[in-house]
Amino acid sequence: MPVTYIKCLGILTSIQLFTISKFCERKRWYAILCARMETKIINIQPITPSVTSFHLEKPPGFDYQAGQYINITIPCENPDNRGSRRNCSLSSAPYEDVLTLSFRHGVSTFKKTMLTLGVGTPLSFIGPFGTFFLNEDTSIPAVFLVGGIGITPVHSMIKQALFQKLPKQMTVIYSNRNSSDVPFKEELDTLAQHNTNLTIHYTTTQDKDAGRHGRIDQTMIREIVPDISAAEFYMCGVPKMTLDLKKILEEMGVTKDRIYFEVFTGY
Ligand SMILES: Cc1cc2nc3c(=O)[nH]c(=O)nc-3n(C[C@H](O)[C@H](O)[C@H](O)COP(=O)(O)OP(=O)(O)OC[C@H]3O[C@@H](n4cnc5c(N)ncnc54)[C@H](O)[C@@H]3O)c2cc1C
Repeated sequence: MPVTYIKCLGILTSIQLFTISKFCERKRWYAILCARMETKIINIQPITPSVTSFHLEKPPGFDYQAGQYINITIPCENPDNRGSRRNCSLSSAPYEDVLTLSFRHGVSTFKKTMLTLGVGTPLSFIGPFGTFFLNEDTSIPAVFLVGGIGITPVHSMIKQALFQKLPKQMTVIYSNRNSSDVPFKEELDTLAQHNTNLTIHYTTTQDKDAGRHGRIDQTMIREIVPDISAAEFYMCGVPKMTLDLKKILEEMGVTKDRIYFEVFTGY
């Protein structure tokens, strides 16, 4: 067979594969095509009155980047119209040998069933998905604007960055309703105590004890971040809060290439 013919065939096959993969990506069919991973619960840990962490076995060969999420399926009898699968960010860091999912309790059959599952329950998932990553350019300080359970991918990024001893300034502005229900507070405080690169500012929107109060807004961001133009911003939380914050940042003149966000649809 002539060499040019073989080359042409190779180029055509590459183009076809590229087109198919782009099509699948757009249609989100890649989720269906992904290999399903089997795992099981190895530990269950309530971390606040309304959030529980599930530690899962890390399947051999499974790899992910800090900030990514998986789509988990649980054994759920008679699921409601939302079904028995959910997207969930990994709150664990890639260097750890377990996978951790941290869910806010809820009213769906998925959430209710989740709280009845015991250690040893087999689960399956597809993934990892997502592009909510920490920019490893250490010359740009990172500012995380987080609402409640939106801390899960940020927790993963921070732990991984500190583990890698990345010399990057990280500031977290973390908003919750009450100071008694702040996922990962103790762990974040300990990390901040031992790492000068990490600073955490808490704000609460409903209780009035000591500390900062109110939603994250322009004034709060300006107060905490001395040089807005030098920083990059990462946001994660329920859709309204995340999209409102994105708008606020744009109004403050932060360019789109300095804004990274993940929206927790479903809340
Ligand atoms: C990329 C990504 C990452 C995510 N990561 C996390 C994470 O780390 N942790 C986490 O907790 N969540 C995460 N989520 C959100 C998660 O996937 C669920 O959408 C969310 O937890 C809501 O769960 P739920 O549907 O079981 O509703 P619930 O938590 O039970 O309830 C949430 C709201 O939906 C309403 N609702 C519940 N069921 C129904 C129903 N059948 N019909 C109509 N309304 C209903 C409730 O009244 C309530 O207002 C993530 C989402 C995305 C997209």
